[in-house]
Amino acid sequence: MTRLAEKIAVITGGAGGIGQAAARQFTAEGARVVLVDREEAALQSVVRSLGEDVASYVVADVTQPEQVQSYVNETVQRWGGIDILLANAGIEGIVSPIPDYPVDMFEQVMAVNVRGVWLGLKYVIPVMRERGGGSIVITSSTAGIGGTAGMSAYTTSKHAVIGMMRTAALECAPMGIRVNTVNPAPIETRMMRSLEEMRVAAADDSEVTVERTKQSYSARIPLQRYGDPEEVAKMMLFLASDESSYCTGGVYMVDGGRSAGSP
Ligand code: NAD
Repeated sequence: MTRLAEKIAVITGGAGGIGQAAARQFTAEGARVVLVDREEAALQSVVRSLGEDVASYVVADVTQPEQVQSYVNETVQRWGGIDILLANAGIEGIVSPIPDYPVDMFEQVMAVNVRGVWLGLKYVIPVMRERGGGSIVITSSTAGIGGTAGMSAYTTSKHAVIGMMRTAALECAPMGIRVNTVNPAPIETRMMRSLEEMRVAAADDSEVTVERTKQSYSARIPLQRYGDPEEVAKMMLFLASDESSYCTGGVYMVDGGRSAGSP
């Protein structure tokens, strides 16, 4: 299990469902990981479960330039460089039509999901360039390639990072740095529980329950189920590793076939 032997990976949103799964798979393949998140207690518990010899954490808000600079600096000090960035921290915002969507919530979602990713690129690229190359994986979504009623901020943000990824892929190719997105459909994490509950609240109809909401989401997926975080992490592992050495500028769906149908 050495697909990431000698590699150093930074994973933002490392305390969350998909981030933790990626951390497990990356360390199982020989990587050293630095988990970045706002939730210190959760970070501590993930690092303990992975082992402090292979994992460490930095508490940081990805929207703040000085905190992004700090997680980059701390990673370089602790492990000597950065080979992989998994820019994965994200928030869902709320479920509401555009006229009712609060401006400050729109800005918050854009700050975490777009500015947070851009800041990661801004401070990590120079460190990777010094090392002679690397791989950047950005977590977008099926909401990055199609509309989602009620989720204007989230959908906008997940489209935006595809444009950002394509631009970064062009800028970074001469440096040996590959940049791609992974685009999951609904995955079994806290985020989907939150969205299901918000859909129920927005419907204001006793017939609409969390269970039925989940069933209706699942029914739109050809494989008829949500994905598991580990299924997303496997694609992230492939893109992080040298096995994907000819892959850059790509949008990689992990969506149970959700995007295969006609629009
Ligand atoms: P999650 O809520 O379990 O994890 C997200 C993590 O990001 C949390 O630990 C949270 O504390 C962290 N975070 C949020 N704001 C932050 C900030 N400002 N600074 C640092 N950390 C911050 O959800 P998840 O499902 O693991 O989501 C991971 C990524 O996958 C997100 O970008 C999400 O949009 C994307 N995604 C999730 C799904 C899904 O169905 N779960 C589907 C498609 C895409």
